[in-house]
Amino acid sequence: MHRYRDKVVVVTGAGGGIGRASAIRFASEGGSVVAVDFHREALSKTLRIVKDAGGDIHGVQSDVSDVEQVQQYLQESVSVFGGVDVLFNNAGIVGGIGPLEDLDEKTFDDLFRINVKSVWLGMRFAKPIMTERGGGAIINTASAAGLTATPTLMGYGASKHAVVGMTKTAAVEMASVGIRVNCICPGIVSTQMIQTIEDKFVSLGLVSSADQYQQAYSDRTPLKRYVEASEVAALAAFLGSDEAGMVTGETSVIDGGFLQS
Ligand code: NAD
Repeated sequence: MHRYRDKVVVVTGAGGGIGRASAIRFASEGGSVVAVDFHREALSKTLRIVKDAGGDIHGVQSDVSDVEQVQQYLQESVSVFGGVDVLFNNAGIVGGIGPLEDLDEKTFDDLFRINVKSVWLGMRFAKPIMTERGGGAIINTASAAGLTATPTLMGYGASKHAVVGMTKTAAVEMASVGIRVNCICPGIVSTQMIQTIEDKFVSLGLVSSADQYQQAYSDRTPLKRYVEASEVAALAAFLGSDEAGMVTGETSVIDGGFLQS
């Protein structure tokens, strides 16, 4: 498939599990990819993998929660590739894990700065660039935790509910300039973020091992396993493509049926 030929796709959190899989996917479909992450080594690894596979990719080391750095990565996308057609606002952190009274103020603020403000900033500054190009598509990574209660993840869950809400508002506001806005709500995806959660559950004595956490979650999931990062990437590649031309304001759940069970 070459759905992204002549398209410029910006992926944030491109050094992480979902972001890297998505950069690989967009590039494999012919897109020119701008990979954004504040973690230099992780970003370099993504660039290397995509380049080795013959993909077109440019990296920008950037903090997506900083207003000037957001403007800079978008401007760099314009100067290197000529514009922006798709923005995948995907960078995020999980923050504190534990009962709500243990969540400290700094972690709460960090969660909203990195998971929420960054998404608004990306949309805010991509809008004029995409408008000039005649439209585009924005995909925000929310979470199943943005749709339901997630005990021990109060701050994270709140931040992802905010992403779902911002997606709906942005979709309605930006339709007139031809920009579609959707979000993806993954269940558990096997990435570094989930290893952090598994390790914390082990250290809290809630499970005896990471394997036990995975087994328990998989048992409760109708399709009986974690989501793969490449499966989230495939969904993002659909939502950003012209094939999804009438899809906007949608929350696309990819969780193996977990939320229905
Ligand atoms: P990950 O930890 O593998 O990747 C996250 C990436 O974001 C990292 O490379 C990190 O360096 C980057 N990042 C964090 N803060 C940043 C900042 N301020 N500026 C720039 N880059 C920053 O995790 P992942 O699982 O790939 O997560 C990607 C997204 O998916 C996140 O928004 C996460 O909340 C969401 N999500 C993950 C899961 C899961 O189970 N893994 C489930 C639902 C939603």
